[in-house]
Amino acid sequence: MTLPGADNVPASEIASDIYGIEATASPLPSERDQNFLLLTTAGDRLVLKISNPAEDRRFLEAQNAAMTHLAATRLCSRVMRTKHGDDIGLVNGRFVRLLTWLPGRPLGTLATKSDILLEDLGGRIGELSLALSTFDHPAIHRQFHWDLAQAGSVVAEHGARIPDPELRGLVRRVAEHVAARDGSALSRVRRSALHGDLNDFNVLVDGEDDAGRVAGVIDFGDMVHSYAVAEVAIAVAYAVLDHDDPLAAAAAIVRGYHGVRRLTDDDVAVLFGLVQLRLCASVAIAAHQQPQRPADEYLSISQQPIRRTLPLLAGIHPDAAEENLRQACGLEIAHGVSRIPASVTLARRRASLGRNLSVGYREPVKIVRGWMQYLFDETGRRYLDAYNNVPHVGHAHPHVTRAITRQLRAVNTNTRYLHDNVWLLAERLTARLPEPLRICFFVNSGSEANELALRLARAHTRQRDLIVLDFAYHGNTTTMVDISPYKFNGPGGRGAPEWVHVAPIPDAYRGSRPGEEGAPARSPADAVGEIVDRLRDRRMGLAGFIAETYPSVGGQIVPPSGYLEQVYAHVRRGGGVCIADEVQTGLGRIGTDFCAFQAQGVVPDVLVLGKPMGNGYPLAAVITTEAIAASFDNGMEFFSTFGGSTVSCAAGLAVLDVLEREELQAHALRVGDRLLESLRSLMYSHSIVGDVRGSGLFLGVELVKDRSTREPATATAGAVVEALREEGILIGIEGPFHNILKIRPPMPFNLADADLVAATLDSVLAGS
Ligand code: PMP
Repeated sequence: MTLPGADNVPASEIASDIYGIEATASPLPSERDQNFLLLTTAGDRLVLKISNPAEDRRFLEAQNAAMTHLAATRLCSRVMRTKHGDDIGLVNGRFVRLLTWLPGRPLGTLATKSDILLEDLGGRIGELSLALSTFDHPAIHRQFHWDLAQAGSVVAEHGARIPDPELRGLVRRVAEHVAARDGSALSRVRRSALHGDLNDFNVLVDGEDDAGRVAGVIDFGDMVHSYAVAEVAIAVAYAVLDHDDPLAAAAAIVRGYHGVRRLTDDDVAVLFGLVQLRLCASVAIAAHQQPQRPADEYLSISQQPIRRTLPLLAGIHPDAAEENLRQACGLEIAHGVSRIPASVTLARRRASLGRNLSVGYREPVKIVRGWMQYLFDETGRRYLDAYNNVPHVGHAHPHVTRAITRQLRAVNTNTRYLHDNVWLLAERLTARLPEPLRICFFVNSGSEANELALRLARAHTRQRDLIVLDFAYHGNTTTMVDISPYKFNGPGGRGAPEWVHVAPIPDAYRGSRPGEEGAPARSPADAVGEIVDRLRDRRMGLAGFIAETYPSVGGQIVPPSGYLEQVYAHVRRGGGVCIADEVQTGLGRIGTDFCAFQAQGVVPDVLVLGKPMGNGYPLAAVITTEAIAASFDNGMEFFSTFGGSTVSCAAGLAVLDVLEREELQAHALRVGDRLLESLRSLMYSHSIVGDVRGSGLFLGVELVKDRSTREPATATAGAVVEALREEGILIGIEGPFHNILKIRPPMPFNLADADLVAATLDSVLAGS
């Protein structure tokens, strides 16, 4: 069979004219060149490669030289000479080469790959690497989009073209996380000549099944001088696609490689990141190339498996992956995870810590690692964290970790000295907020921030009394317990102090219930007006009103629109200051807005932001108006030793960077809307689901025994949380009756996680 070769010269004719070989030709698949299998009359098989017209002759020479250099490994083809003794022939302006045929079938065609085969693959790559470490050619020092050293810029350049927003977000995030975690180690790793594309269609195995061995490698068209460890990382990237246990597959290859060519600590540290980076680059390049060549199947061959596998790899803690690879290489594990069993930890903790320090779950979970929206226990079991809001941009987010450690290395000091972090953070925050919220104070915790907010209100109004919402929680200090009905009316509480006035919670599902001080109000907002009137009638002043904009402890409540507008009007009429406690709702969690007060169409006089701000590093803020800050500036110094420290502000700045770069607020809205919809659909199949509410990644599912009476299903709620934990999902319970499932995950929580939570809750409720 003959097919058109270089500008319609049949391949068999080229073989005859240039190489003096009589053969029949059949086409082989390839991304760049035109390749033909030649079957000579003598029965030999050869590969004729006709280069892309854009190919640089020097680069073809480099490939030939590399194959010749590798001859001793017997892993690749030999280069055949033309009739004139050249390595490269010329037909109609295109370069042709003839290579010996390597027998075997592509690794990618095997249904399964045994660990023995993968270890063998690693060993052969080690051999190749070792041989290439003494090879060089000027033409492989090139700018090349498949070079992993370029992957960050490739993703930056083409990532925006990835059509699916979830995949696009993931690819960008993974590329950034790898850069943040591994950037400095990557600057130290060895560089070398690389084959550059040991994907499993470029690796040939002998034998028909996975009992075979690696027979050779083909296609040197991606050669580049780059990170030496990228050679094995690329092979791992393809070997793990759709593999049941990607870490085990990676370990087998790396074990084989290390047995032949030793990996350094830095190599092992960056390897798993490079694996993911390769897949990210592949998605970005496919997104760039596919619209230009829509019919080209070769371009999309790996895309579906990558789409399935990349999210799984992104959910593995990189330190756990690194340890797994170190273990595979027999290297010491420096900072491994404590293997003290949870039962021992619990007993020791009980012995030395206060008993009213509560611990979640009948069988408490011991968490030793966190990565984005996942937590890992001491056995390595992964839990989906659908509950914790402190790690706002993700557990152990590498950008935040790096910002904190860099600043810790430089200095960590207080606001008595000038440093740029503190004003930068203040400016970045106030830029996200409406006028007149322009003046910031930084402290360490939500409790401390609310304390300060109260001091500001009192300094500004010279009054003491405060209106709070029923069931609210504002912190653990003496005064915060005094203003938190959840505490002072709860077990061990002593009721409201006389200066605290409790208004009913704006709970649309349960309706307005009596507040502490009287009969049910016409509406929850009117109830605040009534308290203001009563204080005025008694000639008592009002310092202010404090509320979580969307009450969380009160039951994940989204107040009716217009509620806060009316409440703030009443409070201001009474001379009080409006304080918004957005410790839980701030920083984009509700999806629609940066803070929940913006969704209510009001502007508080004092805004409190807390725990998510530092992603776990203690940091909280009180943000107020010039006028209130001026009233507070009464001669008494304000100083918080750790508040506004250089490191905490570095953490805060890094959190804002990530929120913006990863577009987490929009992500929260997209994922939250989907979860709300699927949770609401559970109401059709489970009568126990009385109400589903929330916004963004601030959600509540209220369980009731009977929808007509709305009697709380408290015991079932507790059992559901336990059952979800058994299934590997962590959520919480909230509300006055402890019957509301609270879903408030780290912001990277994604659509697949949302679907998993809804489906698992569905099956748990079916069994309850
Ligand atoms: N306000 C609200 C709304 C909270 O949820 C919390 C903590 N759960 C606090 C204040 C107190 O914050 P911290 O524990 O950081 O003192």
